[in-house]
Amino acid sequence: ETAVSGAREPVIELRDVAFGYTATPVVEDVSLSVQNGEYVAVVGPNGSGKSTLMQLMLGLLEPDTGAARLFGEPAHSFDDGGRLGYVAQHASASKEMPITVREVVKMGRFPHVGFGRLSSRDWAIVDDALDTVGMSAFAGRRITQLSGGQRQRAFIARALASEAELLVLDEPTVGVDVESVQAFYGLLESLNERGITVLLIEHDLGAVTDNADRVVCLNREVYFDGPTAEFVESDALAHAFGTAANFLGGSE
Ligand code: ADP
Repeated sequence: ETAVSGAREPVIELRDVAFGYTATPVVEDVSLSVQNGEYVAVVGPNGSGKSTLMQLMLGLLEPDTGAARLFGEPAHSFDDGGRLGYVAQHASASKEMPITVREVVKMGRFPHVGFGRLSSRDWAIVDDALDTVGMSAFAGRRITQLSGGQRQRAFIARALASEAELLVLDEPTVGVDVESVQAFYGLLESLNERGITVLLIEHDLGAVTDNADRVVCLNREVYFDGPTAEFVESDALAHAFGTAANFLGGSE
């Protein structure tokens, strides 16, 4: 199905990466790459190193050994220029400044305009991003007055305004009301179909199996990396989710 030839370049590349906060490594022997246009979920039990791996990928932590590259550059010195959009857990967004949704999304233009004024084209991009995530009607609302799901949409709109090619989301639906979760993943799917690479750190098994094309299963080391359909059939599933795997049958 990969008819594209040389057009696919790795967006994220980890080679033989190991990292520990202390002498004990919490991530070890990790080699993987994420190609342009993929939709990859990173799963694993609590404390398995998912957040650490994500920070290594984004250059927020430097590997003890091995190398991490982002868009072909060493991750820690990568100057993103808006190419990377990061959506944190809802809980960690609770201290966001009391500014409006449109102002948050406007920030997505800063890598392009610096502290200069936004042109009418920049504002058109901002409003288009709001429209894409279904938040036009909330543009003037304060970010602190939104539901969890609406707030996550606003942060995605900020990434779209920056013309992000890679969207990294860390358990984005924690604290999001159940009715909004499916629509949220629908939005991610449609963005991926538009060519945006999606890297999702996720604890929700249903969200992973319904949405991601590829699963990376982590427990200090990578013990599964492959298509979602193979993951569902593999031992890695029970490994990563324990008894929760029993519910998988019920969701189909
Ligand atoms: P996950 O995201 O899968 O829950 P983490 O990457 O957060 O896993 O954590 C992996 C391991 O590293 C855990 O044992 C955790 O306690 C430890 N850890 C995470 N962050 C720190 C830190 N800042 N300092 C020391 N240890 C940490």
